[in-house]
Amino acid sequence: MSHLSTEFAPRPKLEYPFEMRWSPEPGKPFEVVDGVYWLRMPLPIALDHINLWILRDGDGWTIVDTGYDAQVCKDVWEQVFDGFMTPKSVNKIIVTHFHPDHIGLAAWLAHKCECSIQISEGEYHHYASIINRDKAQFEAQANAFITEMGYPKSMVDKFVGFMVSDDKPAASRVQQDQCQFIKDGDLINIDQRQWRVISGNGHSPEHSCLYNAELNAMLSGDQSIARISSNVSVYPSNRDKDPLGDWLDSCQKLIDELPDDTLMLPAHQEPFRGNPARMHQLIDDHHAQLNRLRLSVDAPISPVEARAILFDRELNTIETLLATGETLAHLNYLMHRKEVVMQIGADGVARYSAY
Ligand SMILES: [Zn+2]
Repeated sequence: MSHLSTEFAPRPKLEYPFEMRWSPEPGKPFEVVDGVYWLRMPLPIALDHINLWILRDGDGWTIVDTGYDAQVCKDVWEQVFDGFMTPKSVNKIIVTHFHPDHIGLAAWLAHKCECSIQISEGEYHHYASIINRDKAQFEAQANAFITEMGYPKSMVDKFVGFMVSDDKPAASRVQQDQCQFIKDGDLINIDQRQWRVISGNGHSPEHSCLYNAELNAMLSGDQSIARISSNVSVYPSNRDKDPLGDWLDSCQKLIDELPDDTLMLPAHQEPFRGNPARMHQLIDDHHAQLNRLRLSVDAPISPVEARAILFDRELNTIETLLATGETLAHLNYLMHRKEVVMQIGADGVARYSAY
């Protein structure tokens, strides 16, 4: 989840071994390479699907990512457990990152399959800080944050209401004692094959991808997707950080660490080859957005004004929040490189101008 389309650079020619826009029927795992099955999962949100991966693991199975905490996703899992595999045959669950379409059913599945969850420490701690946060304190923090963006009072209330509304019942939450932490460089043995954890940052704190050299295949999660650009945002929790710098470094890392012809098995859209071209396109698009901002900060501008420059179209509530967060990520990138400075005015609004 959390994607906004902002593409400028020409779309590279990618190779789609299973055809572009084809996907297996939900509930029917499809073997893409030896022992790696693609489970297409419908989602009850604007982004209407996620790709989950089921890996043959000796006599059992390893699941990578889990789906959204919604009945429609549980129904698909029940279909998988009614024929393809039994819950008892699941050895472990690996979660790429904390976003709800990826971690949403991890606790439910782990309970059902009586197995552990492998996730990076950075993702788990960020997830835990969200589910355990004090609601009143977060509401005050969100209020100050949205005010800083430069939205009028009526919209501040609407956005803050939206930001504090998505609390989940405790029963569906992942607890730390269910987790084993994985990190960049770890080798995870699945069916006598070593899958190397390659972590990325910027879209989320410590996203785990998994690469196997023998298959030359990469479970890329949200780090490399054929035609969707993953959202890179600044929120109250990382207000002063530089997630865009992290994201651009991660794109370069995926170019450097993988063979050019690796089969990418992403969390959304279709498997593809051509990762370096796709990464270069994302890098170029973000630099195009940075250049548009550089040309706009002669006089101080608020994040809302900057957002209108970068995302010049009608946006709904969630899109507006994502676009604002992504605009801030670009402004923070320029601040971290001393190209712009930020000042908060007496009205509580942040304004950015050339250094
Ligand atoms: Zn994500």
